[in-house]
Amino acid sequence: MSARPTSPAALQCRICGQRYPVEPLTICEECFGPLEPAYDLDALDGVAFRKAVEAGPATLWRYEALLPGGPEIERVDLGAGFTPLRRADALGRRLGLERLWIKDDSVNPSNSFKDRVVSVATTMARAFGFEAISCASTGNLANATAAHAAKAGIDCYVFVPDDLERAKIIATEVYGAKVVAVRGTYDDVNRLCSEVADALPWAFVNVNMRPYYAEGSKSLGFETAEQLGWRLPDHVVVPVASGALLTKIHRAFGELIAIGAVEAKPYRVSGAQAEGCRPVAQAFEDGVEEVTPVKPSTIARSLAIGNPADGYFALKVARETGGVIAWCTEDEILEGIHLLAETEGVFTETAGGVTIAVLKRLVERGSIRPDEETVAYVTGNGYKTIEALEGHVEPTFRVAPDLERFLAALQG
Ligand SMILES: *Cc1c(COP(=O)(O)O)cnc(C)c1O
Ligand SMILES: [Zn+2]
Repeated sequence: MSARPTSPAALQCRICGQRYPVEPLTICEECFGPLEPAYDLDALDGVAFRKAVEAGPATLWRYEALLPGGPEIERVDLGAGFTPLRRADALGRRLGLERLWIKDDSVNPSNSFKDRVVSVATTMARAFGFEAISCASTGNLANATAAHAAKAGIDCYVFVPDDLERAKIIATEVYGAKVVAVRGTYDDVNRLCSEVADALPWAFVNVNMRPYYAEGSKSLGFETAEQLGWRLPDHVVVPVASGALLTKIHRAFGELIAIGAVEAKPYRVSGAQAEGCRPVAQAFEDGVEEVTPVKPSTIARSLAIGNPADGYFALKVARETGGVIAWCTEDEILEGIHLLAETEGVFTETAGGVTIAVLKRLVERGSIRPDEETVAYVTGNGYKTIEALEGHVEPTFRVAPDLERFLAALQG
């Protein structure tokens, strides 16, 4: 195949620190801890890094020095990332926050933040010479994986539970991906995928590519700092499924501080879950370190991971930074969707509804102070979960095509 990846410098165990070569590895042989990319931060200079970023493409790849791949590696790039950081004054006024920002990741190529992680995972999968790209998913990940595999010109197999909504199958199949409908639950699908990954030379973006895949999430943290003028906010509110996104935003901020690209300052990282799937928020409330798995039942399907791989680390980050992992009710998810759309003109999916609803709760209970500069991460597009609003929205007027009647209706 093509050149070997020159970035990161190594893989490193998140528990014991043991280092490994940059290969398709996921687990430490010493302690079974998860592996994650490690960079030679001492070799990076913050000022030079910022200059290179600002001269780079308007995608997540502008942060290439702190992402997997390296200059010799051909990227799989649909233009994910570098999405708007929107100043949200109207929503801020409604909630009682003086400086609120919405990081709007609903406008990525396949309309969710998953395009970032999949762009990195497929880039590395192709560099490693895998023959097919694959994933286990119930939605956003399936769409993003199918789109990037098409761009890369590599075969794609997407494993889904057999009862998945037709729209999600169409939005995957249209890219030429082969959809494997498995008669079983999402957990059954996942187990099958681990077995297939052992049996065939296929890259499962969120299984055997996971260390590289999760790394793509860091770009959301880098972008936040850059778009604030190379400084960090006081508080971030992040939706939590596996917990990877939350931990990686924290890691991105830490790396920027370490290389001197931003000034060090305290900031708090909070997480958002839905009532029907809140294993990490529950562990936070209970004051325990271990996350007890749950069986998910929530309209926020893209956050419905009952046994979150990074739950332990997400708890740690929230506690160490003075943040909170909180949850909202299923009804509040819909209120959150409406609130963001009505105040800021941004239509998000149910995961974004969770983030906005939890943001509101955190302000109300004083966990976010009014003067804290806050960034809320809106990670998916409302057009993906239209059915969640079905039955909740009706036309305001129903009239005959007649001016008099319309004016009468308008009068009430
Ligand atoms: C997958 C996903 C997340 C969270 O991802 P994790 O890194 O697994 O916590 C958030 N929002 C949306 C819309 C997603 O699809
Ligand atoms: Zn280890």
